[in-house]
Amino acid sequence: MGNKAGRAGIIGAGILGRLTAYFLIELGWEVALFEEGPETPANSSFSPSYTAAGMLAPYCELEYAEPIVVKLGVASFPIWESVVKTVGGDVFYQREGSLVVAHQNDKNEFLRLKRAVEHFTSEPVMKQLKRDEIRECEPDVDPKISDGLFFPHEGQIDTGAIMRALSVHLKKNGATINFDTKAENPTPKKITTAKGSFDFDCVVDCRGMGAKADLKNLRGVRGEVFRVNAPDVSFRRPVRLIHPRYPIYVVPRPNHDYIIGATSIESEDLSTVSVRGALELLSALYSLSSGFSEARIMETATQLRPAFLDNAPKIIYKGGLCRANGLFRHGFLASPMLAKLTAGMVAGGKIEAGFESIYEAV
Ligand SMILES: Cc1cc2nc3c(=O)[nH]c(=O)nc-3n(C[C@H](O)[C@H](O)[C@H](O)COP(=O)(O)OP(=O)(O)OC[C@H]3O[C@@H](n4cnc5c(N)ncnc54)[C@H](O)[C@@H]3O)c2cc1C
Repeated sequence: MGNKAGRAGIIGAGILGRLTAYFLIELGWEVALFEEGPETPANSSFSPSYTAAGMLAPYCELEYAEPIVVKLGVASFPIWESVVKTVGGDVFYQREGSLVVAHQNDKNEFLRLKRAVEHFTSEPVMKQLKRDEIRECEPDVDPKISDGLFFPHEGQIDTGAIMRALSVHLKKNGATINFDTKAENPTPKKITTAKGSFDFDCVVDCRGMGAKADLKNLRGVRGEVFRVNAPDVSFRRPVRLIHPRYPIYVVPRPNHDYIIGATSIESEDLSTVSVRGALELLSALYSLSSGFSEARIMETATQLRPAFLDNAPKIIYKGGLCRANGLFRHGFLASPMLAKLTAGMVAGGKIEAGFESIYEAV
């Protein structure tokens, strides 16, 4: 062990496994990761950490998230800023706010989100926009759209870019990452793979859906996304369209690329995008801005969001084995804080005040 504080073996190098490794290294631990997938996946359908749009929108997510998730998300912003600065690698990350809009017919859904945010906080995290103000914020939004909410503190991150940059950073800082290495179901202090068994002070299970056999309340929620290239649209920030049946978000990436997402289906079917999913997402997209009519579809992807019954993440701990999972649709929003809490539990058995509901001792 040399002069290290301890040795951790992490199974799963998704966003949560990588960030947990990052914090354990900061705490002076020696870290080895075991990932069944390749170092460079062929496409973004490989795992949810590559499929995700990368929206960092805690208040907008109040529609779908428990308050504890919003709290994790808000706490994660300063951590993202420090992680992005530390790992370098030109990762596209911005906090230019996000815009939520609705057609007149969907005003009730729109008001429901507004009330949920007002109920959550009295801080000035949201501004209601009139028709002209929506166009000042994002000129390419359809002029018929009359209701808007602007969330100035929200942001986005390029998910593939931060995954790659973290991998480089971890290796540079002494971590071993064993790609193409599937681990058996973990036991305390031991990881077994086809190459042999390895002993650690603590094993950290960050397998996402790979942990389903061990976590009986874990389920997958199917999500479908498109990546389009739309030279006629110049959104500067994530834009959401509220809709009772087909809510969508549009997340800009450099060079007029946009991630359009996402369906949310209670199914663990990982087959390709359905006709229905495509019709819903793309019709809603066209109603948000007709500039998307000539967009080119560059890629489609389907993945499962790992979720517990309450759709909130958990850290499940017993001596020598710590599992972190259940990030649902909030993996990038909430993983920095969740990873920090996981590392704190692994390194010192620490339960962070204010986040008690996340921990489960077994
Ligand atoms: C369509 C879609 C859009 C999304 N958009 C957003 C968004 O905009 N913002 C946001 O915050 N979140 C979003 N999410 C959610 C986010 O993607 C997930 O919450 C997050 O990726 C979960 O990360 P994870 O590291 O826990 O799991 P994963 O990404 O699944 O990582 C687990 C890793 O473990 C590996 N593994 C599994 N079993 C084994 C084994 N036995 N041995 C070795 N390795 C193993 C897997 O290969 C995988 O790499 C989206 C998800 C989907 C599906």
